[in-house]
Amino acid sequence: MLKIHPIPAFKDNYIWVIHNENYAAVIDPGTAHPVIDYLQYEKLQLVAILITHHHNDHTGGIINLLNKFNVPVYGPHNESIPTLSHHVKENDEINLEALSLTLKVLETPGHTTDHIVYYGVNKIKMLFCGDTLFACGCGRLFEGTAQQMVNSLKKLSNLPDETMVYCTHEYTLENVRFARTVEPGNLTLQELEATAKELRKQNIPTLPTTISKENATNPFLRCDQPEVIQGACKHLGQTLSEPTHIFSTLREWKNNF
Ligand code: ZN
Ligand code: FE
Repeated sequence: MLKIHPIPAFKDNYIWVIHNENYAAVIDPGTAHPVIDYLQYEKLQLVAILITHHHNDHTGGIINLLNKFNVPVYGPHNESIPTLSHHVKENDEINLEALSLTLKVLETPGHTTDHIVYYGVNKIKMLFCGDTLFACGCGRLFEGTAQQMVNSLKKLSNLPDETMVYCTHEYTLENVRFARTVEPGNLTLQELEATAKELRKQNIPTLPTTISKENATNPFLRCDQPEVIQGACKHLGQTLSEPTHIFSTLREWKNNF
């Protein structure tokens, strides 16, 4: 039976560890120490490191982990991550034998141009999506275009409803506050806000989320919904109909929210 465990790091990152009784893989280790502590405490042997994109809060711990564990490091081709041993691209499959788990690579440019995510099925369906998709939000457009991000998010929203979504940041409460402003009539958002507040009060992660929850609450996946379109148009003071323009308007609005 696999466990998927969040290790909190920095201000609001989670470093996800997938493990069974003996072996572990780690996604986006922005720092090494809390990961090493967890592996020692649980008596786990690291078998792989997986990277979604080149930002330091996702890659900063690779070197110190490699000093302790001689393991493959998977990630997108990018010269700024020299520590990768395997460059992966769309539809590549990573077979983590020790975990009886195969992860499939999907390219999701937008937040960065190199961004990839990992999707796998083992009793549950799981998605490790880095900074592309957040609970009720999405990554900022640092390198990619709005059109790229819209396509990337579409790819993720089309995954099976029950897919568990493991995002890298705890942004849920601030994202819900924005989503409620965009779509005040969405009652599911009110429930989500109440649940998330309760969890955060107890310092419990609001993640994972699921694809079905995101399709029901995330304004960035709902650019075709009348109330979201209306909210974006009202904010901009202009009539928009193209989903990409709705998306860009929401993204800009959120950046300054
Ligand atoms: Zn990032
Ligand atoms: Fe990040």
